[in-house]
Amino acid sequence: MAKKPARKASAKTSKRTKRKRAKVKSAPKRAAADPQWMPAQIEEAFRRFKAANPEPKGELQHINPFTLLVAVVLSAQATDAGVNKATPALFALADTPEKMVALGEDRVRELIKTIGLFRTKAKNVIGLSRKLIAEHGGQVPPSRETLEELPGVGRKTANVVLNIAFGEPTIAVDTHIFRVGNRTGMATGKTPFDVETKLDQVVPAAYKRHAHHWLILHGRYTCVARKPLCEKCIISDLCQWPGKTVT
Ligand code: SF4
Repeated sequence: MAKKPARKASAKTSKRTKRKRAKVKSAPKRAAADPQWMPAQIEEAFRRFKAANPEPKGELQHINPFTLLVAVVLSAQATDAGVNKATPALFALADTPEKMVALGEDRVRELIKTIGLFRTKAKNVIGLSRKLIAEHGGQVPPSRETLEELPGVGRKTANVVLNIAFGEPTIAVDTHIFRVGNRTGMATGKTPFDVETKLDQVVPAAYKRHAHHWLILHGRYTCVARKPLCEKCIISDLCQWPGKTVT
């Protein structure tokens, strides 16, 4: 009688241990011991990013807030370069929600078929266009909550649109920023939202408007996933990743 609960507890412990191991295994590679950058170090990193690229720009081609919104929706799990190959033809035909709805889902699907998940994305582009016409006078709303109600639009997309189209100091955490934040130790977290929250807390106000572009570009071209180019990295002395190849 007394042994039964003991076996249950052991099975429970074993499950917990397995879950814990799985979590650790899938956690991003990060700087040792969850380090914290000093405020002066973060200030210095962004001072250098700014000196190297004073007016960083997003790489998704667009004409207006609506085409930006569509481009960002299309870029989910796809590269900006891949999206940029398809969107000129699409935007030449439809640069407003009204024109997009008139173009129709079949035609949109055809025009974006080189982009991953194009069927779902075509449906979302038409759906969000309809909603913009019905509820927002055909305009892209400058509000996170309202943007997130549109089909295919999540927090990251809303952050990009708010930042680029409306100049808000939002930080959209994509795969590059997630990696850079965790690897360097500047903003560690298990989810993009964790990293976004930490960056929001630590990035000095003067640099917040462009922080997301600087970090994306740093991750895309220097602190790349497989073999980061530490030897040409402008924040290598500040980076706290034990695996960096320079000191
Ligand atoms: S030193 Fe290397 S790992 Fe650290 S931020 Fe620079 S490129 Fe990335």
